[in-house]
Amino acid sequence: MDKPDPCGAKVMHYTEVDEEKVSEKMGTRTTIRWLISEKDGAPTYAMRYFRIGPNGHINAHNHPWEHEIFVVKGEGVVRIGEKHYTVGEGYFIYVPPNIVHEYWNTGLGPWEIICTIPNKPSVQEDKPIEKC
Ligand code: MN
Repeated sequence: MDKPDPCGAKVMHYTEVDEEKVSEKMGTRTTIRWLISEKDGAPTYAMRYFRIGPNGHINAHNHPWEHEIFVVKGEGVVRIGEKHYTVGEGYFIYVPPNIVHEYWNTGLGPWEIICTIPNKPSVQEDKPIEKC
């Protein structure tokens, strides 16, 4: 996208977006690309592209907003509350707010997912719900 779109739209290939390593606190062997965010003028949602390398891991965490995830390639395991799910290409995942979640790449290649989040917390309370 050479020129800003006159309507504020953004149309690009994901590889044109900066790939940033996530912090060690967040995970290992993992990068994030912020495809769409508030910086683009998107008022409600952000879309991120994660690449979790072989043996990569995103540490257990929780927050008062949901995730809507689509697995683009590779295979991994996601823990949501007490349950573990194996998810490969074509799977989608809804992680509700305030539930502890964690991700592991269990495949041989990169595990790549699209993960959308709201720009602002979507629920008031931030109490992890462990038993689900
Ligand atoms: Mn999360």
